[in-house]
Order: sequence, then structure tokens, then C-alpha cells
Amino acid sequence: MEEESTPRPTLAQLKEQPHYSYTALNTYVSICQLLYYYRYIEKDEAERTPVALPFGTAFHSVLSEQAQAAKTGNLLTAEQMTEAFATYFQANCKDAANIVFKRDENIEDQIATAKRMFETVNKEWIDYWNIQSVAEPFKVEMPGLSKPLIGELDMVISEQTPFDDEERQGHDTIVDFKTAARMWSDDKPTKDLQATVFSYAFEKTHQCRPSFRFDVVTKAKTPTVRHFFTSRDDNHYQRLEKLFLTADKGIQAGVFLPNESSFACSDCPFADRCSGWHSNSLKTISPKEAA
Ligand code: SF4
Repeated sequence: MEEESTPRPTLAQLKEQPHYSYTALNTYVSICQLLYYYRYIEKDEAERTPVALPFGTAFHSVLSEQAQAAKTGNLLTAEQMTEAFATYFQANCKDAANIVFKRDENIEDQIATAKRMFETVNKEWIDYWNIQSVAEPFKVEMPGLSKPLIGELDMVISEQTPFDDEERQGHDTIVDFKTAARMWSDDKPTKDLQATVFSYAFEKTHQCRPSFRFDVVTKAKTPTVRHFFTSRDDNHYQRLEKLFLTADKGIQAGVFLPNESSFACSDCPFADRCSGWHSNSLKTISPKEAA
């Protein structure tokens, strides 16, 4: 990966301009168009927030800190990570609207679960000097898309380390951290849209094709970690462009259908509004609105 001369804008700065995020477009194409409408067009407060959301965000922030430490050859202990997690998690819960815990769950249980997960993550941690970047923001133009696509790569690693004499370009791998209730199936990474979007963005910004690795840790009594490797090619990118351009047209045309067989229905933050969708009209949007 080539060194950059000027600093990139942060993700927060990129969010200040009109944009599509991977999460937003994935909500539209893979989860539920109506959920997209409530979250990204109306931008109303959620009726409820499942605790998994602030948990996942806090866990992710701590893994990002761990990656920064590992880049300099250090590793935070599980205790340090848990302490940081507790701070993020409690702040996230405070900011979220109407947090919903599952029966018999509470904040302390969630922190204890996170600690077990960090212990497992640390036993399996494999990246140090090969870490090229952590929390790397990106912004790319997709031909025909009405707004740029933005996002953030959790970590980029390389086969090359600072101790290598020879330059070994072209062996970069994007790493994405995931928490999951159950361990992923073997074929999930090959179909995952995020790997396609992030590989596409990396290739456009770095002019080289990356590999992709998902690091998945289960949120369980006995957590496990697995590294899943995958990659994308031109055919995936062409399909992605068609998919997102079609979604863009649908959004601008005001097409927001409910998907009542979506996995998201059971925890949907807008379930009450959705139940009255058929008897209310949705706000009309201008082509420049959304996301
Ligand atoms: S309840 Fe289901 S169909 Fe309705 S907005 Fe939420 S995810 Fe979509």
C-alpha cells in the first residue's frame, strides 16, 4: 500500500457532505426499504434500541484501540479492554433511545460477556507490525450514483512488515471485525456485500486489488473466534454497481416497501410506525435527500 502525502478527511468530516454509506445502501437492498426510509429519510428517533447495537459499537471501538496498540507491537490486556468497553458501552446506552435488554440481561452481564470475548480475541490475535492502517476512512465515486459512497475500513494489513528489506506490494488485506450471536457459516463471507463494497472502495483509492478477512467473535458463554478469508473480482464490482444504481433510482423515486420476512423485523426500531404504514403517506423526498 502506498504512503499518502496529505491526510485523509476523517469519517466524521466525510459524513458532513451528502453521501451514501454501505450500511444505508445495504439496509435498502438487503434488509428493508421501509426501515431505510424511517432511518435515513425521516431520521426520527428510534422507538426502541436493542442492546446488541450499543454493545457492538462499543466492542468495535475497543478492537480498534487494540489494533492501534498492536501496530506498535503492544497488546492491551483483556482487563484494559473491558474497562474501555464499559466506558463506551455505558455512554452508548445513555445516548440510545429506549434501550431494550433481553429477559435476564443487564449491563453488568453484558460487560462480563465482553470480557470473555476479549480474552478469546487476545488468545487468537495475530497482527502486529503488518498493520498498515486502522479505522481508515474512504470516499469513492461510483459511476452514475447520485452521491459518493463513504465508509471506514477497520484495519488493513500487509504481508510486508517494517523489517522486510524488499518491497512486496499488492498483498494488502482488509480486516473487518464482527460480533455474532452464532458463528458464521463457511459460505457467508463469499456472499457478503460489505466485502464487495469495501474491496471496491479500496481498489479505487489504492489502485490495487485487496484480499478480505472477516474476524468473527461469538457473543456466547464460551466465545469463539474465526478468521474468514474471501476476495472479489471485476464481476462482483459490475454487479455491485448495477445493484447500487438501481437502489439509488428506487430511493429517488420514493420506493420504500416493507419487507415483513426480514430478520430485522423482530428487533425493528420502527415497528410501531411500520404497523401503520399502509394507512399513512410517506414524506416525498427531493433527489438530493437521503442518507
Ligand atoms: S418491522 Fe420489518 S418490515 Fe417493518 S420497517 Fe421494520 S424491518 Fe421493515
